[in-house]
Amino acid sequence: MSYKVQGLRIVIVGGGEEALNKVRLVTKTTAQVVIISRHVEADFSGFAVEQIERAFVPADLDGTALVFVAEEGADAELAKAEARARGIPLNVVDVPAECDFYTPSIVERAPLTIAISTEGDAPVLARLVRARIEAMLSPGIGRIASLAGGLRQRVESLIHDGAARRRFYEALVTSPEIEAAEQRGQGLDAAHDLLSQHVNAETKGVVWLIGAGPGSEDLLTLRAQRLLQEADVIVHDQLVPTVVVDMGRRDAERIDVGKAKGHHSFSQAQINTLIVRLARQGKRVARLKSGDPMIFGRAGEEISALRKAGISYSIVPGITAALAAAADTATPVTLRGVSSGFIMATAHGADDSDLQHWAALAQSGLTLALYMGKSIASEVAGRLVANGASPTTPVGIVVNAGRPDRATYSGNLRSLIEGQVTFIDGPAIIFVGEAVAAGDWADAGQLAALSFKVA
Ligand code: SAH
Repeated sequence: MSYKVQGLRIVIVGGGEEALNKVRLVTKTTAQVVIISRHVEADFSGFAVEQIERAFVPADLDGTALVFVAEEGADAELAKAEARARGIPLNVVDVPAECDFYTPSIVERAPLTIAISTEGDAPVLARLVRARIEAMLSPGIGRIASLAGGLRQRVESLIHDGAARRRFYEALVTSPEIEAAEQRGQGLDAAHDLLSQHVNAETKGVVWLIGAGPGSEDLLTLRAQRLLQEADVIVHDQLVPTVVVDMGRRDAERIDVGKAKGHHSFSQAQINTLIVRLARQGKRVARLKSGDPMIFGRAGEEISALRKAGISYSIVPGITAALAAAADTATPVTLRGVSSGFIMATAHGADDSDLQHWAALAQSGLTLALYMGKSIASEVAGRLVANGASPTTPVGIVVNAGRPDRATYSGNLRSLIEGQVTFIDGPAIIFVGEAVAAGDWADAGQLAALSFKVA
């Protein structure tokens, strides 16, 4: 909350260092600042304050917006009681429990003001955060904010679409050219040029196919994060967790095309039509997919629909589930002398020739990472063995890879066939191959008595 103090008094009871600290802060406002103390000790010269060297009297709070108490004793107690009786917000320095409000650390680039508050708990932390933000913001950013303010009416009359207006403002406040021009005193001209460019440019939609990673927000790429912030619409799959979808702009439209197994709320054709339609409306569309968009993400269909419609698009890679699972279990999916390669394959819909092929690959040491196979895990294991894979080939399964609630299971093909494992809920990667035994499966639930744990 920012408090309006113009034309009102801010009264500080106290005359020491702490009062001086508050004076430093509040003299940045347009209020009339008054300090009252029997002993004014600190040096207030250089600040626009009225110093009253006497005992506090209740009438001191006439016309007062805010009261700070920065000393102890009878005057302080009287001032607190009087402020409370009059309903004037009170700050008692270093006594959070007695405060109605706290003064945040402030980064000031007027009219841009950033307040950092720890609600009195850790002022040192607030100062450190402040120093970082100070370093982040160029000194001229405030003038650019004023520029934007001055252009508001013009922008509103020239650009009618809300999203297009936002794009203009984004360009205005982030463009290094505008900042340089502003430093030369030509900011306004440069801003007008930019505005006419935006008025003339037809609003062009774009679709970004973005990999959201396995489901933890810190496994998202910086590019994905940036584009999520820029998008007007976020079209996401059901597997993308809310924390990631929430990273988009607050007012971006969100469409869940949730393709949970079993009930297809949107067909692939409908999704293709949807993203094309949104982009044609000039929107910037973040098509957010779990893991990497190019791996079992139906990216192929969407890309071809976008190409056909002549819509620009780009792909942002993400961490695919198999690699998150490898990281979770410290499993080197390629390993010198053991595994010379790594196959990502779908267990769902695999036919006999696939299985024959994979069995041979697993036999030769390559690591298989099977997607979409949890519910048919033991059936797939059986078919691999029937096609020639050794029953003792190591198997590792990671459910909810890359997420805090992951669970791991280890064993071999035989134990997967014979074991009656109940997996926890969630998507899973099934690793098959000798390299799996080199991973760290110490926390893994055993698939059966037979574990692959090697000496
Ligand atoms: N594009 C995604 C895959 C989507 S297909 C990617 O690159 O990861 C859906 C399958 O991915 C699921 O059936 C499961 O096998 C796997 N999967 C997705 N997220 C997962 C996760 N967090 N943990 C384990 N497997 C996952």
